[in-house]
Amino acid sequence: MDLYELTLHELQEKLHNKQASSEEIVKAVFSRIKDVETKIQAFITLDEEGALDKARKYDVQDHFSSLTGIPYGLKDIICSQGMKTTCASKILENFVPFYDATVASRLKEAGGVLVGKLNMDEFAMGSSTEQSAFFPTRNPWDLDRVPGGSSGGSAAAVAACEIPFALGTDTGGSIRQPASFCGVVGLKPTYGRVSRYGVVAYASSLDQVGVFSRDIRDCALVLNIIAGKDPLDSTCVDIEKPDYTEFLKDDIKGLKIAFPREYFQEGIAQGIKDTVKKALLKYEELGAIVEEVSLPHSEYALPAYYLVAPAEASANLARFDGVRYGRRDFEAENVIQMFSSTRAAGFGDEVKMRIMLGTYALSSGYYDAYYLKALKVRRLIKNDFDKVFEDFDLIVSPTTPTTAFKLGEQTGDPLTLYMNDILTVPINMAGLPGMSIPCGFVDALPVGMQLIGKPFDEGTLIRAAYAFEQNTDYHTAKPDPGVM
Ligand code: GLN
Repeated sequence: MDLYELTLHELQEKLHNKQASSEEIVKAVFSRIKDVETKIQAFITLDEEGALDKARKYDVQDHFSSLTGIPYGLKDIICSQGMKTTCASKILENFVPFYDATVASRLKEAGGVLVGKLNMDEFAMGSSTEQSAFFPTRNPWDLDRVPGGSSGGSAAAVAACEIPFALGTDTGGSIRQPASFCGVVGLKPTYGRVSRYGVVAYASSLDQVGVFSRDIRDCALVLNIIAGKDPLDSTCVDIEKPDYTEFLKDDIKGLKIAFPREYFQEGIAQGIKDTVKKALLKYEELGAIVEEVSLPHSEYALPAYYLVAPAEASANLARFDGVRYGRRDFEAENVIQMFSSTRAAGFGDEVKMRIMLGTYALSSGYYDAYYLKALKVRRLIKNDFDKVFEDFDLIVSPTTPTTAFKLGEQTGDPLTLYMNDILTVPINMAGLPGMSIPCGFVDALPVGMQLIGKPFDEGTLIRAAYAFEQNTDYHTAKPDPGVM
């Protein structure tokens, strides 16, 4: 196997045993990127020089941290000191942050080598990465299809072996949905488990940073590094952080798994339902107790999300006014005109639409009717989950209603596009941890299974995911995007 194909933990072993140097690994990764990137287009920015410099420095150093010498990528919404952070938007096209997000500095301190910044839907609004202001990313399993979104660059790069792992963000499904479409592992931790400091805010009460990897061990290793309290983010909770690798045990006897009937209804492709049901049988075979439950308010999650998320986005995106960050219209005659022409030219259509929807939902005459109502629905959704978790350890469902769709198939039809998140959005509304893992294929395209846990119980997700992985081989299948 080539170095670029190895997982993070396999690379750690190679480095420790001196079977490979970090320079060799970084070179292998860039040669892979050169081979496939013109087709996949996962990266907005690449830093080969910087990465090689770092790798050479680590190679002559004699102490190891958990990530020393290992390459990775960041979704381009995570601030990286001295490296452009665009949010795939024209308004931040040339924005270079002077500080690192907490997650970025934690990976850096652990010795990781940042390879580049990954494509996404503009400001994380979307489900296909076609809403990037720059170019769409393609699915390594089928180049005519989308990788999902909004963290599509992260998912595609990990699936195509351009990097062993990446970080993304998930507000309504943006880690789990692309992980599912690209056949990789994607974890959205509990709201408050990982710091959001330095991560450009979309909807602050829903956003969470998480991990893309090719196996569960890597996911646990990276979570160990990024999780935990941060004095710079007051919503990042100060509770004990376990060593997540302790949960890598192939034993789930007696684990109580619920599957919600609302997540297996019409609208979910039959092939996906069958694949996930088969995975549930596997869990039974491994000793879990599997039962059907109901989450009765599920159908209201998506409409409520599309009030809460745009409302928060309209407030968060007010800061992009041409004064503080990025682009500015220097031709404008006065400051009001400068604000408006900068924003008109800087934001794409979807972002503008959401700002308008959100501003409307928060306006004085409509606040009670829309925003407040959505918050009440959000509470009902959370209550549904709390009730199930009185009797169960874990909830399992499909991650997405379909497998990856074709580029262009859903553009211009926002409501259809929004439906992609119907099974992931409720988890953000309730603030719970959720994970997508590969569980099979339909028509040669990957299918993801979603595992949903109790708040701050990422450990149980990792345990259940690991047991499934150890007893199946879906995670070993790799796409072949062909080389140039
Ligand atoms: N697709 C959803 C949206 O557009 C979720 C995006 C996300 O999780 N960032 O809002």
